[in-house]
Amino acid sequence: MTVILDGKALANKMQANLANEVADWKSKGYRIPKLVVILIGEDSASKVYVKNKEKSAQKIGFHSVVRRLDEAVSEAELLDIIAEYNQDETVDGILVQLPLPKHIDEENVLLAIDPKKDVDGFHPLNVGKLFVGDPDMHPCTPFGIITLLKEYNIELVGKKVVIIGRSNIVGKPLMHMMLNEDATVTITHSKTKNLKEETLTADVLVAAIGQAEFITSDYVKEGAVVIDVGMNRNSDGKLVGDVDFEDVLPKVSAITPVPGGVGPMTITMLMEQTMYQGRKHCGEESHD
Ligand code: NDP
Repeated sequence: MTVILDGKALANKMQANLANEVADWKSKGYRIPKLVVILIGEDSASKVYVKNKEKSAQKIGFHSVVRRLDEAVSEAELLDIIAEYNQDETVDGILVQLPLPKHIDEENVLLAIDPKKDVDGFHPLNVGKLFVGDPDMHPCTPFGIITLLKEYNIELVGKKVVIIGRSNIVGKPLMHMMLNEDATVTITHSKTKNLKEETLTADVLVAAIGQAEFITSDYVKEGAVVIDVGMNRNSDGKLVGDVDFEDVLPKVSAITPVPGGVGPMTITMLMEQTMYQGRKHCGEESHD
């Protein structure tokens, strides 16, 4: 029987644990963690993502700040605002919602965030630490994938992992995390020749492509574990993954659904990393 890797259930469990931890801190009079999310402009998808992050942070009991900036904000103004939050000792996590307006250089913004408050894990220092196998802050989507696989005791040591997609936020960091778990990793992309030849060798297949229901059963080895990162709207406007779930389901040993798989884990890892930094910054000695 195929196991459905229930990211929503694990996310709920982890967020409830965080809420208990925060309540415990509060009762002891310690400063509770603070997450600042900076949202620039009116992109509707970004607004939904930020709303969801705010909801989770509030539910857990963090101090949650959403700083909304006009689309026309200059790069210099944005960097000044980040610098203020870097210096503010009550702030544990800073996240700038991507994508940014075209006139703002993404690299400059990511570099400006204090790596110790980089709860999204995109600062080049944190990316480099992951690369050398000494990670501190992780990009949240791949971190959520690894956490979900571990929850279900899915062995990665020596396993053949094939990742489709090489973005900086999913495919590339996941490649390093899988290597750090002692998997053998192949990363593929739009220029890969004979994609199917690669995917059919996968014990664990991760689809992070951005194309609705692209992966059908003929791409998948019997008994494989399939992780679907995609979040796409199909022609009926329904939210679907990069994997044709119904087609692939009978062939695989485990699979993530969309929605309810990787998505809720992504937000949860953001909360975990805020707590992680909070623990460091708000330890026993730092009362309000
Ligand atoms: P990107 O668009 O940045 O990257 C897509 C990758 O897929 C690229 O590397 C691209 O190759 C590759 N690709 C595209 N078409 C093909 C193809 N036909 N064959 C093989 N490879 C192909 O996407 P993201 O990584 O940002 O996101 C991927 C998906 O995951 C999206 O649906 C996104 O919405 C979703 N997502 C979900 C999250 C969650 O929390 N659940 C979080 C982040 C993303 P190339 O590099 O050559 O262009």
